[in-house]
Amino acid sequence: MDVMPLLPRLHLLRFPVGQAYLWRDGDELTLIDAGPAGSGAAIAGAVAALGRAAGAVRRVVLTHFHEDHAGGAGELAELTGAEVMAHRLEAPVVRGEVPGPPPVFEDWERPLHEQAARLLPKGDFTRPARVTELSDGDVLGFGGGATVLHVPGHTDGSVALHLPCHGVLFTGDTVAASPLDGRVMPGVFNLDRDRTVAAFRRLADLDTEVACFGHGDPVTGRAAEVLRRAARAHDTPPD
Ligand SMILES: [Zn+2]
Ligand SMILES: [Zn+2]
Repeated sequence: MDVMPLLPRLHLLRFPVGQAYLWRDGDELTLIDAGPAGSGAAIAGAVAALGRAAGAVRRVVLTHFHEDHAGGAGELAELTGAEVMAHRLEAPVVRGEVPGPPPVFEDWERPLHEQAARLLPKGDFTRPARVTELSDGDVLGFGGGATVLHVPGHTDGSVALHLPCHGVLFTGDTVAASPLDGRVMPGVFNLDRDRTVAAFRRLADLDTEVACFGHGDPVTGRAAEVLRRAARAHDTPPD
């Protein structure tokens, strides 16, 4: 796992597949996503390297249930005592009570998905026993008030988090940046691609300076302009 500072209060955590983010308010830390299963100890190590005790991690907010984002949540809850939070539609999947619905692949996504699947740990993993259920419009107590946006499409219960005080947006997998050229685009491996594009537009309308994606380099300045330009590329041309 690589750790990269983005802002004085924000670090990017990069895993073999996917990314998580560590936000700091004074002595208190919030994780946005938890990496794949097996990441708990590495994340706790990164917290220690920043000079914080494991117990400083107050909450782990999951953008969605996919294993590259939620796999480490159970281990982290055990290591830190953090509260795990997910949209109410995803919480039963995160707790391991029901399987998550698989993506509906576009043909070109299949080889990409096979590649990603090879990098993820196999078998079952520690699930968080308790998951606080979130809904659209909830405001969470970090980053000066983090608004939960329910953005179904990538999964039914995908959420984004918007920190208006800081102009920071965590998109989960509704938005991604290409590993090849950094191009910003709707995420891949969606349950419903059209709804993902609609959700992408909703996020592009927000006032955002810094946009943090589930995959690919974040945009660290004037992110709203970049997102709006990318959203326009998906407009249907007039007949
Ligand atoms: Zn992902
Ligand atoms: Zn995903």
